[in-house]
Amino acid sequence: MESGCIFCKILAGQAEASMVYRDAQVSAFMDIQPVNPGHVLVVPNTHAEDLAALDTATGRRIFEIAQQIAAAIYRSDLRSEGINLFLADGEAAGQDVFHIHMHIVPRFDEDGFGLKFGPDYANLPARAELDLAAGLLRAQLGT
Ligand code: AMP
Ligand code: ZN
Repeated sequence: MESGCIFCKILAGQAEASMVYRDAQVSAFMDIQPVNPGHVLVVPNTHAEDLAALDTATGRRIFEIAQQIAAAIYRSDLRSEGINLFLADGEAAGQDVFHIHMHIVPRFDEDGFGLKFGPDYANLPARAELDLAAGLLRAQLGT
């Protein structure tokens, strides 16, 4: 448990939460400030600040449970015409709580939520630029 971490406090039963799911590796509870009703967070039970700190087995479990909760949302009476899975890794990516978590956000037409794109988004890069980025990543992956 990381002192000062609100999600560790929730997991330790020291802060309030509306629990949805819990197993040995991960827990899921309702987001306190939902984008839409039914917005759930899936978190590792052991504190991990970000993707780099998260072991891959727990990462797999987070995705597995997120998938199951998404299916449960669709089956439920919560309004959901679509679902976004969203994970913010790092402050620049919008991470506010540094105990990594996957958002499961029910979506529907004209719910007002969306991603904002930068001014250059409409200009597609040349293939050479995409190839360059792919090469940089292949070099890191050894692929
Ligand atoms: P992020 O910006 O991706 O780090 O998301 C943090 C999320 O945690 C936000 O959607 C908050 O509304 C949510 N949050 C913060 N504190 C709590 C809490 N005590 N219980 C449930 N959700 C919380
Ligand atoms: Zn924590």
